[in-house]
Amino acid sequence: MGMGENNGGAEVLIGKFDTNLVFSDPLPPLAVSNNGLDLNGQQHVDSNQKGKREIVLGRNVHTTCLSITEPDANDESTGDKEAYMASVLARYRKNLLERTKYHLGYPYNLDFDYGALSQLQHFSINNLGDPFIESNYGVHSRQFEVGVLDWFARLWEIEKNEYWGYITNCGTEGNLHGILVGREVLPDGILYASRETHYSVFKAARMYRMDCVKVGTLISGEIDCADLRVKLLANKDKPAILNVNIGTTVKGAVDDLDLVIQTLNECGFSKDRFYIHCDGALFGLMMPFVKRAPKVSFKKPIGSVSVSGHKFVGCPMPCGVQLTRLEHINALSSNVEYLASRDATIMGSRNGHAPIFLWYTLNRKGYKGFQKEVQKCLRNAHYLKDRLLDVGISAMLNELSSTVVFERPRDEEFIRRWQLACEGNIAHVVVMPSVSQEKLDDFLSDLVEKRSTWYDGENVQPPCVAAELGNESCACKLHRS
Ligand SMILES: *Cc1c(COP(=O)(O)O)cnc(C)c1O
Repeated sequence: MGMGENNGGAEVLIGKFDTNLVFSDPLPPLAVSNNGLDLNGQQHVDSNQKGKREIVLGRNVHTTCLSITEPDANDESTGDKEAYMASVLARYRKNLLERTKYHLGYPYNLDFDYGALSQLQHFSINNLGDPFIESNYGVHSRQFEVGVLDWFARLWEIEKNEYWGYITNCGTEGNLHGILVGREVLPDGILYASRETHYSVFKAARMYRMDCVKVGTLISGEIDCADLRVKLLANKDKPAILNVNIGTTVKGAVDDLDLVIQTLNECGFSKDRFYIHCDGALFGLMMPFVKRAPKVSFKKPIGSVSVSGHKFVGCPMPCGVQLTRLEHINALSSNVEYLASRDATIMGSRNGHAPIFLWYTLNRKGYKGFQKEVQKCLRNAHYLKDRLLDVGISAMLNELSSTVVFERPRDEEFIRRWQLACEGNIAHVVVMPSVSQEKLDDFLSDLVEKRSTWYDGENVQPPCVAAELGNESCACKLHRS
């Protein structure tokens, strides 16, 4: 059926504004709860959910919910609602303080002070579109954004007039962009990513319907270049798009970029037949300051690098940075020439506050400041690993990493309290600048105390983690020497 001609569609208004256009009673009927949940109430915990958390597919589980209620008719006079909302927020703030204190498992630096920027929260700052092309929307922060991008361009050794990039909403968006650029540059390329790669990379493969080959990993979590070689040789007729991890999510392993490039060369892939995206979400800002780490640099044949802004840097909202070569972006965006502006970002509207937060921190800390923080994190990570091993707990720390991997604590309550990320038999603590030795000591003594109750009988033993961490790192009954 054709559109136009008002076939039951909306009419173009010609006459005066008709007040009947707006419903007088906008409130839809209240949904009836059929699972015992309180639709009106305060924070509400489903009693079935108290013990173990399960992954539930296809069901919307309301574990907690602060419902929205209609303002009372006389609300303006009583101010009750305002008072109620203020108390909810005050309680929430207290909870955030508490949860921040006991956070160890996710790689977020929670230590920052952006008080100076609170004056900007009244503005709807939006950098929609390309950072290098002004839109007609004037409330933007492109000047900050480009400043931040230049800083990263220097870090990753690419000239100002040779790069293109933008501040993303998160590390995932950087990966989605980097792999898209790779796909546009090499349309029939196969995506190679190690088994321990972040799920966002495999999500990209699904979204873009790319052929994707999973490559094996070493016990450290690094990509196994011997396996990469076998898989490259098996697909020699197709170009290769590679995701290289600058810090894997679970073990904090850093792929050997130089060995990956060497492997490509040895398998006969010339520079124009491969594209490398470096996923530096986790350690992208740490590795440049670690001497032994393979250097991420655009002087090497890489296509793009991304990093998360809310991880090591620390930022109250998720964000990230994505940098690629300008020549690639021109290839990517030439097919949308009919737009007045270049459309080369994944998102349309983009958070204009994030670049200001990054600009503020980079200015305050500088390369020197980050160097110091990296040192502190690596030192504290070694401290934690050594102490765990001292008390007989399986633990592993990669040389270039501040992610300490250890046996999964037996008790879900403990895991929740310290907000540990777990996978199978292992858990990890990511030592960020906000994790002090004192916090680690608190954690260690809590763990040691609880653990003595978990494993006080002969029938329950700590898990064996040899499969995940190798025999040397395993302190289970069988593997401890
Ligand atoms: C965290 C992480 C991501 C995704 O970053 P988000 O900012 O959470 O989207 C991607 N890759 C790695 C290795 C990560 O650790």
